[in-house]
Amino acid sequence: MDKHDVIIIGTGPAGLGAAFGLLARKPGLSILVIDKNEYSSGGLRNDCKMNFSWPIGFPEGAWAREQAEAYLGRVEAFLEPRILEKRNLSVYAKRAEKIGVSLLEIRQSHLGTDGGLELIKSLVARLAGLGAEVALGEKALTVDSERRVLVTDRREIEYRDLIVAPGRGGFSFLKDVMTAAGVSFTDNAVDVGIRIETRIEHYPIVRDYYDPKFLFPKKTRTFCTNSGAAHVVQEKYEEKDGSAWYSVNGHAWSDSRPSNGLANFAMLKTVTLTEPLASGADYARMLGIQAALLGGGRPIMQRVGDFRLGKRSFRDQFSGDLYDFEPTLASATPGDISLCAPSKVMRALWNAMKLLDTIVPGLLHPSTVMYYPEIKLYANRPIFEDGHFRAKPGLYLVGDGAGTSRGITAAWASGLRAADGILASLD
Ligand SMILES: Cc1cc2nc3c(=O)[nH]c(=O)nc-3n(C[C@H](O)[C@H](O)[C@H](O)COP(=O)(O)OP(=O)(O)OC[C@H]3O[C@@H](n4cnc5c(N)ncnc54)[C@H](O)[C@@H]3O)c2cc1C
Repeated sequence: MDKHDVIIIGTGPAGLGAAFGLLARKPGLSILVIDKNEYSSGGLRNDCKMNFSWPIGFPEGAWAREQAEAYLGRVEAFLEPRILEKRNLSVYAKRAEKIGVSLLEIRQSHLGTDGGLELIKSLVARLAGLGAEVALGEKALTVDSERRVLVTDRREIEYRDLIVAPGRGGFSFLKDVMTAAGVSFTDNAVDVGIRIETRIEHYPIVRDYYDPKFLFPKKTRTFCTNSGAAHVVQEKYEEKDGSAWYSVNGHAWSDSRPSNGLANFAMLKTVTLTEPLASGADYARMLGIQAALLGGGRPIMQRVGDFRLGKRSFRDQFSGDLYDFEPTLASATPGDISLCAPSKVMRALWNAMKLLDTIVPGLLHPSTVMYYPEIKLYANRPIFEDGHFRAKPGLYLVGDGAGTSRGITAAWASGLRAADGILASLD
């Protein structure tokens, strides 16, 4: 049987952070990094906006500010990002403050979808150059944490320490690992919202601040703004019976492609479930399935003008009008979002949109498109044994899948933190 000092599952930022963190201090360690895909499937590959400011990406409970900032410093020193400039921030911030909204000033870099892919390729090559074995296209199937054996679709491998970093997409794999290892976890929160697409002239703040982060009342916020060659995409979530539902998301290509004059961003509300405690993931699934039912198996899109009048949108209204633009997710079904979004969620989102239109006038132009649903699953949050995200002896759970991060830089930091735990155990 193959044997390694450390196996890392996932070449997302959490897995890469852990691998580089280990090799920086112990170049002789035998490290195997595996990923079921050829290239990491997460945010490094999708638009790749990297945030270097607390608290973006750092979940409460897993991080204290000082600790997060110390790790962020290490992430920044390694990745050497080019921080984007911002302009006129105080103007927007003053307008926001007057109506009870906060505008966060975030240090951010942006590589775009094509730039992100180049970064992953170079990081993976660098890792192999440092002596790690990188197995792409190999899928982790099960973990026996007592015997310290990982079973993949190719082989069985022994390890001393295992770092599991499968991202949000590896949600159910991680759940199986935790169940088999007897790790307790909670899962009671979810972000539900819409993605808004409009002309840049109706949301001109993006010329001053690439990804403006506004916090509104009722746990509602803007998230993941894209402009330039920006488009809305759908992500498929398959059910065990073969059916599927979709969440929308946004991308932007870097300067290599011509701008389409559009911007998109998510408006999300966090829903935290209490008694009787239900699974946030199950709740999200039910919402996703309901939207797919009403959208004929697709996400739903609606013009702001129709939404205001309480009318559904129709396909023939999506072209030909003077102010109109072609929605970039053309396969979405024109319909009525208020038939599928819970009213408490919809009220909070619409209230936030009205506030945002006061800060950046133009957003509520009738041609603006709202896509539903955009769902961000929170993780199954494990109960950890120590401050290095160790869930059982020799078993570390990091990244978005384990609830230790909610973004690229925090995921990298969480990998580094697990690596520090392993390094301390070797000293
Ligand atoms: C479309 C999209 C856009 C995003 N944009 C941004 C952004 O601009 N900025 C930002 O900060 N965050 C963004 N995010 C969030 C960001 O992707 C995550 O916060 C971050 O990637 C989490 O890192 P991770 O290492 O935990 O997981 P991931 O990056 O998801 O990596 C997990 C890896 O594990 C692999 N894997 C999963 N299961 C297995 C298995 N069983 N066997 C082997 N390999 C497995 C996957 O293939 C994947 O490559 C975006 C997310 C998405 C989906």
